[in-house]
Amino acid sequence: TNDVNILGVNFDNTTLENFMDIITNRINEHRRTFVVTANPEIVMYAQSHSQFNDLIKQADYIVPDGIGVILASRIISQPLKERVAGYDVFTKLLEWGSTNHKSAFFIGAKPNVIRDLQRVVAKQYPGLIISGTQDGYYKDESIISEKIRLSSPDMVFVATGSPKQEEFINRNINKSEALFMGIGGSFDVLTG
Ligand code: UDP
Repeated sequence: TNDVNILGVNFDNTTLENFMDIITNRINEHRRTFVVTANPEIVMYAQSHSQFNDLIKQADYIVPDGIGVILASRIISQPLKERVAGYDVFTKLLEWGSTNHKSAFFIGAKPNVIRDLQRVVAKQYPGLIISGTQDGYYKDESIISEKIRLSSPDMVFVATGSPKQEEFINRNINKSEALFMGIGGSFDVLTG
């Protein structure tokens, strides 16, 4: 794809619709996929943390989460087509996953939020298979890694904020031939 480099971060220049086509195809083909949804804070963080910058270079796709990145792309005269917000990709994947009977593992947010999320997902996306849920304040990551490996979900949503979520994905992407995506506060938003 054609990339737009903003302060050292290579964004994919795509649209939400096109991006959904790409990643749903990859999920169908069981291709491991690491998606980073980057907002200006993440770009700034990567600029001053070279390890994190190296880590997100491992991502298959980096998409612009928020208008700040779009504005920056216009300033450097390499305009990104549109905002591809993590929350929008998340809810579209839930919908697609429900229709196509895909499975998903959810990690992140406070214990009461992840409990609510389980209820909301079961009700609003009944065709989706919930492989597992885990709040974001865990002590032992190895138990979660093992649960992902054993359940081999199609999608793994990690909503523990940056950089924690991307670091988790980097350590665990080999556990399932899945789409792994960091989505910040999305569980709080969906459970309202
Ligand atoms: N969170 C978590 N574990 C942590 C720290 C935060 O699960 O150790 C959760 C927090 O409960 C919230 C989410 O991470 O649901 C994202 O928070 P924030 O809005 O700060 O992230 P952003 O969207 O800005 O990356």
